[in-house]
Amino acid sequence: PGGDAGQGSDLRYNMEISLEDAFRGKKTEIRVPTSVPCDACKGTGSEGGAAPVTCATCQGHGRVRSQSGFFTVERTCPACHGQGRVIHDPCRVCGGGGRTQKVKKLATTIPAGVENGTRIRLAGEGEAGLRGAQPGDLYLFLAIRPHELFQRDGANLYCKATIPMTRAALGGSIDVPTIDGKRAKVNIPAGTQNSQQFRLSGMGMTILGSRSRGDMFVRVAVETPIKLTGRQKELLREFEATGDHKTHSPEANGFFNKVKELWEELKD
Ligand SMILES: [Zn+2]
Ligand SMILES: [Zn+2]
Repeated sequence: PGGDAGQGSDLRYNMEISLEDAFRGKKTEIRVPTSVPCDACKGTGSEGGAAPVTCATCQGHGRVRSQSGFFTVERTCPACHGQGRVIHDPCRVCGGGGRTQKVKKLATTIPAGVENGTRIRLAGEGEAGLRGAQPGDLYLFLAIRPHELFQRDGANLYCKATIPMTRAALGGSIDVPTIDGKRAKVNIPAGTQNSQQFRLSGMGMTILGSRSRGDMFVRVAVETPIKLTGRQKELLREFEATGDHKTHSPEANGFFNKVKELWEELKD
């Protein structure tokens, strides 16, 4: 009787977490202003906790019918507002609604590997229903804050590392931070080009519901040295004079040859 009239509303709770939290997962407590069953009447809405009685107007159906010409019109019972039950002596604390306002504390676990925009449903943790009716659900909407260093694409992480020209030319290694708070070594082979990408297998985000991780990709940016001293300029000029472009800078060499050809063609 009464159907689901008076069911509590669903609630939405927006939560922002860091990329590190999304990687590790997180146990957290949230505080939600909501309505909870009234303590004084145990949610019944009736003073002293006496159970509500069946509404005499609608016999507990919550709806009443009246004849209008050929039609039978059905509408919500005006005596019980569709509840099917009435209270003779309403609770003085909640005014008969059976619920009061409260900031509810809820412990919840954010699983490792969650994506931005993930919705977590906490069944029955929404607003309390009217006089003991079914409560609503609470939906936790997760937003992941942008990270200073990492961009995420699913289980993979992307970051940029700037290296000096000499390191790119001679080779070596660099240390990069990882999402688990540690560091990883990236080997830079001699002759590494600007924008070249290196893959660190299994160093990405946690994959939701598993123990494995995605990959991390490090894209290097090669920095051309600036504010050279006279001596450094001298060394670089000497460097330039010792070899030929065709061998040491094949890309640049190819480009300038192509350009030269174009100019030759224009002349004809
Ligand atoms: Zn009450
Ligand atoms: Zn009624």
